[in-house]
Amino acid sequence: MARIVMKFGGTSMAGTERIRRVANIVRRQQAAGHEVAVVVSAMAGETDRLVGFCREANPLYDPAEYDVVVASGEQVTSGLLALTLQAMGCKARSWLGWQLPVHTKEAHAKARITSIEVEALLASMQSGEVAVIPGFQGLSADGRVTTLGRGGSDTSAVAIAAAIGADRCDIYTDVDGVYTTDPRIVARARKLEYVTYEEMLELASVGAKVLQTRSVGLAMKEGVRVQVLSSFVDDDAPSADELPGTMIVSDVEMEGLKMESQQVTGIAHDKNDARIVLTRVPDRPGAVSGIFSPLAEAAINVDMIIQNVGRDKGETDVTFTVPQADLARAQALLEDRRGEIGFNRIITDTKVAKISVVGVGMRSHAGIAATMFRSLAERGINVQAISTSEIKISVLIDEDETELAVRVLHTAYGLDVEGVAAE
Ligand code: ADP
Ligand code: ASP
Ligand code: MG
Repeated sequence: MARIVMKFGGTSMAGTERIRRVANIVRRQQAAGHEVAVVVSAMAGETDRLVGFCREANPLYDPAEYDVVVASGEQVTSGLLALTLQAMGCKARSWLGWQLPVHTKEAHAKARITSIEVEALLASMQSGEVAVIPGFQGLSADGRVTTLGRGGSDTSAVAIAAAIGADRCDIYTDVDGVYTTDPRIVARARKLEYVTYEEMLELASVGAKVLQTRSVGLAMKEGVRVQVLSSFVDDDAPSADELPGTMIVSDVEMEGLKMESQQVTGIAHDKNDARIVLTRVPDRPGAVSGIFSPLAEAAINVDMIIQNVGRDKGETDVTFTVPQADLARAQALLEDRRGEIGFNRIITDTKVAKISVVGVGMRSHAGIAATMFRSLAERGINVQAISTSEIKISVLIDEDETELAVRVLHTAYGLDVEGVAAE
């Protein structure tokens, strides 16, 4: 017998029929003798719809009331799943975020979990009841509903798994595991049996939205065993206990598996960044600090930075990226400081994409960046900015070339699965 958290995403919960499939999967895990807690997302598209209502009601909406609205999507699906399980003869009940409660701190709409009270939850699970928990929801210190940021149900599931000491946290979604790149873009993407926490964290943070970044960081910190697998399976499909999906493992576990070491494990893309160029910035000490300090103070996350070789007259161009959602604020801040910083023009572009290659193999293989730049150049794809970490290289390119770049790199690093025709 094991204690399992099962999380089902939006497409898995989209409508009565799909919820019945989910209930079947849950019932099978319980019948295998496990104690089961289920974390659910709102139906696919529902949270977007609710966010739309908030914007219509008040473009400058109060985040506390936004949370009241958007948290409702998960309330509906948790109740529906409990009802469906009951209709199948299973004991089940829902536990809303404020009922457990899931304590959170910091801002509404992007709250962080601080602790979860699990005594009553465990007692219910031990009595053979399936606990159904709406993901994404929490409770603030002043007793109001909070939400954890988009995609936050993954984090709810991992946090609950850590709090109840679960043996495994299964994240059920609409693909059957983590792939070398988004399988909806590259048909030749290969499913990974294992991926390390560190690589998954990098992949998620550069756009592989199969797991919310924060959920991976939490799983790594708390040592939660996470599996990504599909809920779109037949009744006779192998059980989750046979690990049919992708397991996220530690470096040490990965070494023990003696998998063939790859240069690159995965490739991700992100179209949510914007590029800013400040022209003719004075080339002197303190100039870049004058640009980036105010952005940091405003909590605007700057990712890629390039300072061009100085021009004549001691001037240089500075290029960097910020999240598109923060572009207007960043632009306003910089315009306000035009005199102090001393730039000439501010040029912005949202039609850019960041393509990243990730792999712990980068620590031991040379030439990975060279392969990236050569492969992109051969297809005429221009690199506008570059950033690197120990296990990642990212380049900024024209958004229209995203799919082409991902495919070209996937082939260049030998990641293509055999026997599937190139698109
Ligand atoms: P859910 O609603 O279950 O939370 P998401 O839409 O958030 O599902 O995440 C699943 C999607 O992530 C897949 O449909 C796939 O298109 C996308 N994805 C992006 N990168 C990857 C990857 N490397 N491996 C698997 N899926 C990926
Ligand atoms: N329903 C929320 C969202 O769409 C949370 C989640 O699905 O993880 O962002
Ligand atoms: Mg998701």
